[in-house]
Amino acid sequence: MDTEAKLNTLGEGAVYDVTEPHEAVQPRVGAEEHITRVATHGCVTRLLKVLMTNVCHNDCGYCAFRAGKDCRRAGFTPEELAATFEDLHHRDMVDGLFLSSGLGDRPVKVMDDMLAAVEIVRRHGYEGYVHLKVLPGCEESQVRRAAELGDRISINLEAPTEKHLARLSQAKNMRQDILQRMQWIKKAIQGTRTDSATQFVVGGAARQIAIS
Ligand code: SF4
Repeated sequence: MDTEAKLNTLGEGAVYDVTEPHEAVQPRVGAEEHITRVATHGCVTRLLKVLMTNVCHNDCGYCAFRAGKDCRRAGFTPEELAATFEDLHHRDMVDGLFLSSGLGDRPVKVMDDMLAAVEIVRRHGYEGYVHLKVLPGCEESQVRRAAELGDRISINLEAPTEKHLARLSQAKNMRQDILQRMQWIKKAIQGTRTDSATQFVVGGAARQIAIS
């Protein structure tokens, strides 16, 4: 699969992930299909919203990429993702990056790839907005690194209680996978300029609400 096809597949997968509270999800058409305008830190930013991979071993009932679902699978390498974002940025099509992902077979490996992609664009001099999702199953050191690299880091709470989450996913554990990482996020962003957010899935459908 070439880079454009990957961008189509993995951009489409991220477009309904909410980046900011009150964000109006307005997917564009054609070349701007996966670029969303959102207000970040008081300014309107054009974000490339994209997944590192849509391969996932989890079973969240509301997700188009859950394990066993028949869909087109793709994944970027860190170098491909960085080059794709840099190309759009140099063409003045985007000002910021929102990077999320499926969990692949090993969330730690996928999180490493996400961090590596952002490290590349930072090393190349990009100082603009980056929102990094923290993956269930990642390590605390990775959350700390995400807080160093990103302007905003977040993990989806998905549901208000363990009982509600169990209805959405057999595999996700609220305490271990989500609440523990929310604590790590809180610790990691202390004393930094990075902030955090989370979101719920409302009604088990693909409608999501972000909370800062
Ligand atoms: S963990 Fe994320 S990508 Fe995987 S099935 Fe759940 S919502 Fe989908």
